[in-house]
Amino acid sequence: MKKQKAIVVGSGRLGSHLASDLSLKGHDVTIVDKVEDSFRKLGDHYSGFRFIGDAIDSEILEKVGIKEADVIIVTTNNDNTNLFIGHIANMIYNVDKVYVRLSDDEKSTLIDDTDITAIYPFKLSTEAFNTHFWSDVE
Ligand code: AMP
Repeated sequence: MKKQKAIVVGSGRLGSHLASDLSLKGHDVTIVDKVEDSFRKLGDHYSGFRFIGDAIDSEILEKVGIKEADVIIVTTNNDNTNLFIGHIANMIYNVDKVYVRLSDDEKSTLIDDTDITAIYPFKLSTEAFNTHFWSDVE
């Protein structure tokens, strides 16, 4: 795969992990979080950029290079924020690959008919648990 220019929004548990992984694989990564302390979660091998700011603001998105980005992964702890930023990335900046973290899978209707892909950490964890649990008890 060609080197991707990636933006990760939110340096929480999911975002910091994905940013570190992309960076380790040689992609060009910028992570943005409104709380500087959150960058502590990035692994030691993270070699991308860190930017402090509120990613709801399109000026901040432009500062972190959204106009040139191939991929954006939006992982804040707020579904509405993630959907909002995902829609901006998709519709205004035409980012090729847009991923948004969602806790509430009913909100997926808000990205029907778009190229935005949802990531459901809670649903995936539940499914993984159920797979293990039922194979252990049967
Ligand atoms: P977590 O819930 O541990 O996955 O963390 C979510 C991260 O998203 C936290 O580090 C927050 O500071 C960050 N965050 C929340 N809202 C925004 C926002 N509007 N712009 C940038 N980062 C945000």
